[in-house]
Amino acid sequence: MVKPIKEMSRVALEVNADPNSTARISDFHRHDELQELAVSLNQMLDRMQRYIDQQKEFVGDVSHELRTPVAVIEGHLNMLERWGKDDPEILEESIKASLQEAKRMQHLIQEMLDLTRAEQINVQYPNAVTNVADVLKRVAGDMSMVHKDFVIRLDMDDMPQDTQIQIYQGHLEQLLVILVDNGIKYSTDRKEINISAGLAQNEVHIIVQDFGEGISKEDQSKIFNRFYRVDKARTREKGGNGLGLSIAQKLVHSYHGKIGVDSVEGQGSQFIIAFPSLTKKQAHKLRERDQAEKAKKGK
Ligand code: ADP
Repeated sequence: MVKPIKEMSRVALEVNADPNSTARISDFHRHDELQELAVSLNQMLDRMQRYIDQQKEFVGDVSHELRTPVAVIEGHLNMLERWGKDDPEILEESIKASLQEAKRMQHLIQEMLDLTRAEQINVQYPNAVTNVADVLKRVAGDMSMVHKDFVIRLDMDDMPQDTQIQIYQGHLEQLLVILVDNGIKYSTDRKEINISAGLAQNEVHIIVQDFGEGISKEDQSKIFNRFYRVDKARTREKGGNGLGLSIAQKLVHSYHGKIGVDSVEGQGSQFIIAFPSLTKKQAHKLRERDQAEKAKKGK
């Protein structure tokens, strides 16, 4: 009876002394509650280990990404110190470049925050409901205003106007902006973006299509990884840092949706997102709960 408890205690002490320890409780070859507890504890330890590894990886990635802009700014400041004071041309160029780099860093930090927040969504907006057509119209309109040289089409023929999904409206907007922005960034001669939405088998599908450079099969499996860029130097020129699609994927998964890509190099890409659609009754219930929550928080 005491042996399993001693074993659990041993592992607890070991992990306490070194959180990275791979010590786990060994199999007792019993079929009782103690065995169940041991299995749960092992699973918990594995999960914690994965979490620690992910955090380490994230900190590693972030410091790597911040090193470049910091090095560029440092380079320009050195130049200013040596020659810039007497040479107006160097002065102006270095200040401009440093400001641009600082802006890029600001953007990077904002996106890193977005990524972290996207991991904690279900806690923040558990009952949010959004009308898909309203958001699509708004985003398509806004993007057309900002990118006047592009034709942005919106086709919602296959989706009823009152289609609703469970997502916070700001997040659906953010998702669409990421996809349309990419479509625009990676377009070549043909400056067109098609956004379409349809409802089939209780799933809402939203597709963002461009006719730009496309993505190879090999890269298609990697573009959702954070900081991954097909062509680092060129993407940097366009202001990309490889976080947009990982934010999009985190957002979609937090709402139990799916995201995928279909692309042919040299011809263009289609990004597809899918969410379960809500019946009127479900949407109504969630809205009621959402309002009740808000009222409670307001007090
Ligand atoms: P970025 O900010 O670099 O655009 P993303 O995570 O949004 O970061 O995208 C990752 C990479 O995937 C991009 O650097 C680009 O190489 C590729 N990519 C994303 N969207 C498209 C697209 N519509 N067409 C071609 N390539 C794309």
